[in-house]
Parts: sequence; structure tokens; C-alpha cells
Amino acid sequence: MITVKHLSKTYTDAARPLTVLRDVNCEIEKGEVISIIGPSGTGKSTFLRCINLLEQPTSGEIIVNGTNILDKKTDLNAVRQKMGMVFQSFNLFNHLSILHNVTIGPIKLLKMSKENAEKQAMELLRMVGLAEKADAMPSELSGGQKQRVAIARCLSMKPDVILFDEPTSALDPTMVSEVLSVIRQLAKQGMTMLIVTHEMKFARDVSSRIFFMNDGVIYEEGTPEDIFEHPQKPVTKAFINRIRTLEYEIKNPDFDLHRMNAEIEQFCQKYALGDDIFNRILHLVEEIPAIMMQQPGAIHLKLDYSEKNYNVYLEFIQDNCLDSILENPDTDEVALSLIRGCCEKIEENTSENARRIRAKVRRDER
Ligand code: ADP
Ligand code: MG
Repeated sequence: MITVKHLSKTYTDAARPLTVLRDVNCEIEKGEVISIIGPSGTGKSTFLRCINLLEQPTSGEIIVNGTNILDKKTDLNAVRQKMGMVFQSFNLFNHLSILHNVTIGPIKLLKMSKENAEKQAMELLRMVGLAEKADAMPSELSGGQKQRVAIARCLSMKPDVILFDEPTSALDPTMVSEVLSVIRQLAKQGMTMLIVTHEMKFARDVSSRIFFMNDGVIYEEGTPEDIFEHPQKPVTKAFINRIRTLEYEIKNPDFDLHRMNAEIEQFCQKYALGDDIFNRILHLVEEIPAIMMQQPGAIHLKLDYSEKNYNVYLEFIQDNCLDSILENPDTDEVALSLIRGCCEKIEENTSENARRIRAKVRRDER
């Protein structure tokens, strides 16, 4: 239904040109529900806006139902009518009643009779649970209700596909589910939809596929299970597992241990890791580098905390070193047993001219 090839978009209106989409390629079948997730500023909104030509792409092709919509000869209004868009901020006509908001498009643009438009509007309002509010004004509605009207208004144009740009992110948390529930219902009815969202559980449940966007490209795509359970690429993994990272470079034995400890303490406080974990991390960052530094070479330390599964990992990498410390009979036994006591798991590998120790910090059962 929609094919996107080598889509790119560079904004040139600002002082410096900014390339927001670099090379986006995808194919979307009729009836698919695709959630687009990823960090902010990676071009998700720009992508949706290019698809319905609210933004003019810099290069590439967008083919909708066999028509290249970037072709000069294409009737843009016809294309836009077939693509509904629901925004974060509803964009209702505030001076028109709810019913009128849902009839104006079909009457003006589809040349539907007032009677038919009103009949259709009432059906749509019933579907989104707001038939009772037909005569109300937008200002009398809550955010969640307004967004449901915006969806009904979008449907009144009989679109082939609906693009949602963070439809729930402007809402009070109590109103998120009433809007998601309407979108779920549309998915069941087979509506083709592209949904930019931060609601991960919803994206997982409702989507046939997930696009993970990062840095202007579809960085990884797959089924919800692929992306949420088995992400393959590093940025996807970090995003999905909500990994928070602290990195530190230990250049030589005279490094500032207190500075490092203070940073670790701040990190642990920020993510409420608890004193036990903090103390274990401190032992590990003291003992492991002390052993490693018997060989020359800077140590790169990385502390990872997943806000999803609460795992804490410490990693130490030292270039140009191939000796084992865990298997080495010269390693101090007391230090080693202290290290092992702080870890649920500790692995060492020496390859590609570096040694790497990765420790899963032990945490107490909750
Ligand atoms: P996302 O929706 O993933 O958060 P956006 O597509 O909104 O990302 O924005 C991507 C980048 O493009 C951001 O750095 C944003 O500031 C920039 N941007 C968005 N719209 C415009 C515009 N009209 N002019 C210039 N820069 C823009
Ligand atoms: Mg956005």
C-alpha cells in the first residue's frame, strides 16, 4: 500500500541545514499496524509528515497505492484525503460543536449531504463513545475526549491509512487508555495505521510490526517480539531495556578514585539502586582495576543499569592486554573471592588484543 524508497529530508530554513531523515526505506501492507518508536529527535514526526506531504521530502520516493505522490502531476489534496493524521494536540475547530467538527470535512471536501454527514458523524461518535457529546463544544471536553473526537473526525474522511503522531503524549495519564482503546478497536477492524508512540506495552500489543527509528533511519524493524524481546542492534537494545550508562576512563594508577566514586554514587542515587548494590559496585571498581593495573594500559569502565529488568553490569576493558586475571594463579585470592562475592556472574574474555571483564552485580532478592 505504501512504499518508501531512499527518503531523505534536510531542513534548510534554519541557520544550518539539518538532515533529519537520511535514507528511510519501508513497505507497508494494507491492514498493517506499525508502531514507530525511538529516541526523541530522530525524525519520527518528520517521517509521518513527509508521508502525507505536510513536509516536502528532499529526495526519495513515496508510492501510495501505486501512485508516486512526489510526482508533480499528483493531486495532493486527493492524496491527503486518503491519509488521515491525528496529532498530539487534537487540533479540533474550537468554535464548532463536536458534531460539526466531524461533519465539516465530508460536507466540504467529499461533497456529502448534510444529512448523510450527520448520520455518519453520529455513528463515528458512537464508535468512539462520544455520541452524547455531539452538541457540546470542544472546550467542554477532556483531553482524552477531544482526542477521540479528533479520531472520529479523521475517520469521517474515510481514509485508507491513519498516521498518529504521539496521540496520547499530551494527555493526563488517566486518559491515555481511553484513546488507546479506540485505536485498538480500529486495529481489530483492519485499519492501516502508522503510530508514533512512547507507549511500549500498547505498541507491543497492537502492532504487526515495529520500526525502531534512530538518527534518521529505520535502524531496526521486526515483529513486536523481535524488537521487544530480541533486539539485535546496540541502540535498540539500550532503548528497549532502558539502559542507563556511566562511563569512566582510568588512565593510570594515579587516577582520581574519589572523583570516580562520587560519580558512581550520584548515578546510584539517581536511579535508586540501593546501598547494597552501591557498595558492591564500589568494591568491584576498586578491586578489579587494582589487579588489571598490574599490566600497563588504560582501563575503560562502563556501568550499565537497566530500568526495565534492573540488572546492573560493570564492564572493564583494557587494550593490549591478554592475561587472564580470574584464572591466573598469581591473582590475590582474597581479592578474587571478594570480587566473586559481589557478582552474580563474572566473565572474562581476551580477544582482539584487549581483555574484557563483564560482571553482573549481585542484587538481593526483593
Ligand atoms: P521526533 O519526532 O523523532 O522527536 P522530529 O521529526 O520532530 O523528531 O525532529 C527531528 C529533528 O528535526 C529535530 O532535531 C528537530 O528539531 C528538527 N526539526 C523538526 N521540524 C523542523 C523544522 N520545521 N525546521 C527545522 N528543524 C526541524
Ligand atoms: Mg515527534
